[in-house]
Amino acid sequence: MATMDDPSVPFSLMCGCYCGCDAGEEIESRKQADAEGWTEIEADDGHSWNYLGLCPECRSNC
Ligand SMILES: [Zn+2]
Ligand SMILES: [Zn+2]
Repeated sequence: MATMDDPSVPFSLMCGCYCGCDAGEEIESRKQADAEGWTEIEADDGHSWNYLGLCPECRSNC
């Protein structure tokens, strides 16, 4: 059974902001997310993502 820590599960991130933002598809790794200014990244077993965070745009605009 695949888990969050399974390296075969690709990192996928979704902005969890209440505004309905759908940023995150272009982020391919936790490292890239950090580099682009994402914050509050946490494991979340969603439909098409396994991490939720707050994108840099929402961090400054929402
Ligand atoms: Zn966002
Ligand atoms: Zn937002």
